[in-house]
Amino acid sequence: MNLEPTAYFSRVSDIPLDMLISDGVGTLVVDVDNTLMPYDEDNIPDDIAEWMRKAKRHFTVVVISNTKPYRAKIIRKTLHVPAYGMCMKPLPISWLVLRRRVPKDKPAVVIGDQFFTDGLYAKWNNLKFIKVEPLSPKDATHTKVTRWLEKILFTTNTKPSD
Ligand SMILES: [Mg+2]
Repeated sequence: MNLEPTAYFSRVSDIPLDMLISDGVGTLVVDVDNTLMPYDEDNIPDDIAEWMRKAKRHFTVVVISNTKPYRAKIIRKTLHVPAYGMCMKPLPISWLVLRRRVPKDKPAVVIGDQFFTDGLYAKWNNLKFIKVEPLSPKDATHTKVTRWLEKILFTTNTKPSD
């Protein structure tokens, strides 16, 4: 199965908004843990918060994540975007959130740090996937297994394109 991302960047704030605009993207479906916030910290880095504020001017932004509910709440309160935790990406229950909360009339792109949650989620929902580097080396226990698999399976093209 090809899970190679459409594009690869070091962090969310490195993704050029112009590129997304010219690609005709309408909606950003963004991950939380190690994408918007480090896994082991409850705050959003300033550059990423600023990027999200700018992104909101151009796109519908929806945060769909497996994170704990209180962390989704931090995203909602800080960035004023819809943010859902415990979505169990890439399982079908998370597809329901996508169907209900993401506009159908605009092309969406998934932005996240993991091939086996974000990448697979994008693939199974026919969306483009932008991969970022994890913000923190720390991960949930179950993620350590999939990171190990990522290292084996994605030995090429694993460096950011910027
Ligand atoms: Mg993540």
